[in-house]
Amino acid sequence: MTLERQAIFVDGVVQGVGFRPFVYQLACHLKLAGFVKNRAGSVLIEVEGERSLLDRFLVELKTKPPPLSIIDRVSLKSLPLRGQEYFRIEPSDIEAPINLEYQSPILVAADMAPCADCLAELHDPADRRYRYPFLNCINCGPRLTIIQSAPYDRHRTTLARFKMCAACQTEYDSPGDRRFHAQAIACPACGPQLVALTNAGERIDADDPLTLFADWLMAGKIGAMKGLGGYHLVCDARRQQVVSELRRRKRRDEKPFAIMVRSIDQAGRFCDFDSDEQSLLESPHRPIVLLKKRIEPSSDQYLLADALSPGNPFLGVMLSSTPLHDLLFEAVGEIPLVMTSGNQSDEPIAYLDDDAVQRLGSIAEIFLTHDRPIHVRCDDSVMRIVDGSKMSIRRSRGYAPHPIRLPFECPCPILAVGGQFKATFALGQDRHAVLSHHLGDLEQFEACRAFERDMILYERLFGIHPCVIAHDRHPDYASTGLAQRRAADEGIQLLAVQHHHAHMASCMAEHGLDEPVIGVSFDGTGFGLDSTIWGGEFLVGDYSDYTRAGHLRNVGMPGGAMAVHEPWRMALSHLLDADCDPSNVDVGSTHQRRAIEQMLNRGFNSPLTSSAGRLFDAVASIAGVQTRVEYEGQAAIKLEWLAMDVPECGTYPFELIQKVKSTHQMDIARVPCALNLFPFFIDTRPLIRAVVYDVVQHVTKRVIARRFHSTLVAMISAACDRIREQTHLDAVVLSGGCFMNALMTKGTCARLMASGFRVYRNHLVPPGDGGLSLGQLAIAARSIGRTPAIPDIAALVKMATTCTA
Ligand SMILES: [Zn+2]
Ligand SMILES: [Zn+2]
Ligand SMILES: [Zn+2]
Repeated sequence: MTLERQAIFVDGVVQGVGFRPFVYQLACHLKLAGFVKNRAGSVLIEVEGERSLLDRFLVELKTKPPPLSIIDRVSLKSLPLRGQEYFRIEPSDIEAPINLEYQSPILVAADMAPCADCLAELHDPADRRYRYPFLNCINCGPRLTIIQSAPYDRHRTTLARFKMCAACQTEYDSPGDRRFHAQAIACPACGPQLVALTNAGERIDADDPLTLFADWLMAGKIGAMKGLGGYHLVCDARRQQVVSELRRRKRRDEKPFAIMVRSIDQAGRFCDFDSDEQSLLESPHRPIVLLKKRIEPSSDQYLLADALSPGNPFLGVMLSSTPLHDLLFEAVGEIPLVMTSGNQSDEPIAYLDDDAVQRLGSIAEIFLTHDRPIHVRCDDSVMRIVDGSKMSIRRSRGYAPHPIRLPFECPCPILAVGGQFKATFALGQDRHAVLSHHLGDLEQFEACRAFERDMILYERLFGIHPCVIAHDRHPDYASTGLAQRRAADEGIQLLAVQHHHAHMASCMAEHGLDEPVIGVSFDGTGFGLDSTIWGGEFLVGDYSDYTRAGHLRNVGMPGGAMAVHEPWRMALSHLLDADCDPSNVDVGSTHQRRAIEQMLNRGFNSPLTSSAGRLFDAVASIAGVQTRVEYEGQAAIKLEWLAMDVPECGTYPFELIQKVKSTHQMDIARVPCALNLFPFFIDTRPLIRAVVYDVVQHVTKRVIARRFHSTLVAMISAACDRIREQTHLDAVVLSGGCFMNALMTKGTCARLMASGFRVYRNHLVPPGDGGLSLGQLAIAARSIGRTPAIPDIAALVKMATTCTA
């Protein structure tokens, strides 16, 4: 019998997921001695025992880890025997390793819905946690939202203020227990408690605050309720008047509200879904899933208020994500509940108790809250199934900060600050990209503050200190300003990344692609390199470089950002560009038309754009679908709804026109695969003329919408065919906000695959601007090379001056 001792380093999501208890039980089972402990970014195990048992230990470690853990890397080192007799769990090492180059980031798990064991206890009258809304175990419960710093230990979470009772302590200390070292352990005797408050923040004396809250909801009141990552506004989703009132108080006219239902059967009463959608609904991430509304609800009792999502064939649905929600449904029964972010219009979700009462007091009539603080705010995630696979629309609770594996290693720690809208940031170290939760639109001051605060928090939490910051090329994005300020203050290298290149790279990174590709990047707007606004782009290249192979025809965007909110402006611009008489269609008044025409002719406040999103707006407006929008992309979404169930009915004409090559020589020299490429643009004028013809001929909106979608598919297909002829590239990545359009995405994928292309689209991160940070990160990781980053000279000078001053 040969005895050996081994040190085993395990990297990945291994802290806060029951990894040490699992190792402890495994080692005890195999009668191995040694210890396990958390280190800054990994778990360190030392085991000694018989060789064959050590091997078995390693196999089981790799193949049967706890459900929430993800093992990225296991490295081994032989050690001299120490003759230990027992195995034990040792306290964490908090000091970071000295050699930063090899330090793995600390990966924190996402918050997960209660597991089946915990739910069974919740509903078992004999259990000491019967009806206790804060029960959890090593396999479920809050994580990111309660962690204050790393490594993940109870005294560094928001539960530190609750002293464990003797019974909880025993479970916490018992290696065989499901709550062995479960840091968020709690029970009615020692843990957080519910409290009901008036909308002025005064405590309401109630034996059972939950039942009281439920009674108010059932009586048609609006409530505010503290969830995992923030406050939700809640009401009966069947009451038209209440839902409309909520809409009015929230200052939200048309954006749809999501609902929470008690069970999957209940969801089936309102929506149709397939098995993929069902498993997404039931997954422990518990996202909001966009489902198709049932045309005929199963009975009047299940008629939802129209005001939930006016005119929208889809409905956002989720199942309960905490034991508290579960208990709420026990009280309200089969009533579907509106469960929408606790905020006004587009502000970040309220998560601090005092702030919530202040901000939501004018919206909600009663509060259901508790004394377990939320440390990191986190909105609900939104997902949908497109063409049989997942599409992330908003990646937040349940997914963030789950790392995304990069196809290559970051040469140094990197921060990518994303864009301006649907903001997220990303931190990169090793092969990990840690994407933040959703932070909203940075035009809002509150969102900007939250962005900055949570960025610092993540850096501390994950122990990642960036030496490069990647940002969008747009000089006026708040994220760009933030990146520049930090770079100057801290002497960090900056890297500006073109918006559509970042979209393309986000999709490449997700799929582990590290080769030149054709990137189709269709979205609303992004800062171009030629002083125009890009948004209908065909790029060729890889992470480190790209060239613009083609784009949609440039037209003026009268009024700049105003045109985003008023699609009729884009309609006029496209009509004039195509020499169509605007009076043939119902777009703007004569006075408005004249004003826009003058703006366009003089080029006054009318930047040129190749945006596909704006083309959607123009067509929607010309077809009379929508002339004003409440949020970006609304007109495009309506066009998609109209076209959804219409069978294929032809396409509109367009032309692919070659440009003069010389202007692109510089670009092409940097991108070898594009040497024989002749840049082109797609002339959209024939398309516009044909749409006008259809409108004049009274062709239905549905048919026009369908033809337009088919035309986009044909355009993308024609452009990709041409690029393949000239470059021999056959991998196409589809990204940008327009690819949230299921009809266009599905059609494009099918068409390109039929032509023999390898087609990739975003699944893990949103194709829209929420995914930009991942793309920027991958580009930075590939572009900065393996040499250490050189700090910005200007910043160094500035630092030197401040020091001497
Ligand atoms: Zn559990
Ligand atoms: Zn207890
Ligand atoms: Zn974009």
